[in-house]
Amino acid sequence: MSFILPELPFAKDALGTFITPEGFDYHHGKHHAAYVSKLNAAVENDATYKELSLDDCIAKSHEDSNLGVFNNAAQHWNHSFFWSCLSPNGGGAATGKITEMIDKDFGSFDKFKAEFENKAATLFGSGWAWLVVSDGKLEIIQMSNAGTPSVLNKKAVLTIDVWEHAYYIDHRNARPSFISGYWNFVNWDFVNSCL
Ligand code: MN
Repeated sequence: MSFILPELPFAKDALGTFITPEGFDYHHGKHHAAYVSKLNAAVENDATYKELSLDDCIAKSHEDSNLGVFNNAAQHWNHSFFWSCLSPNGGGAATGKITEMIDKDFGSFDKFKAEFENKAATLFGSGWAWLVVSDGKLEIIQMSNAGTPSVLNKKAVLTIDVWEHAYYIDHRNARPSFISGYWNFVNWDFVNSCL
């Protein structure tokens, strides 16, 4: 079985200046694509990994400390998840069931937003900020490099990629500008579908 780069769930010009078509050409068309092709190359001649689903590949390579597979498999999963977190019809305050959970676990949407922004802004180096469900409760965690919540037995419901490659084309070195633009496109329907 070989892994395939998913299509973006919207047109490349749908997110305005937040991520431009050139930004997607690099981030999706080159970075994400490279994780997929490196993952395929890494499992091609390995009978153990070759037949596994992406989720199983992530779990097994993590257990085996096989970073050549893990980094590419987790980054493939993380990026596919990240694209789904965005929508040209998204943005604004949370809607649906996640709203109640945010109010219960963070006090208010504004407090949740401030903590998520802080975790995204302060992650040192490359990685991801994640909103996850753990023991029925929401929490926001930072994970470096290819870190992905399933290895902590936590369920991902929202993420932002804060690798420099995620924002350097459209925001140059200004990670905070990328983070503030993100809120205009969060796909709350997708977040609710992950609960
Ligand atoms: Mn990325």
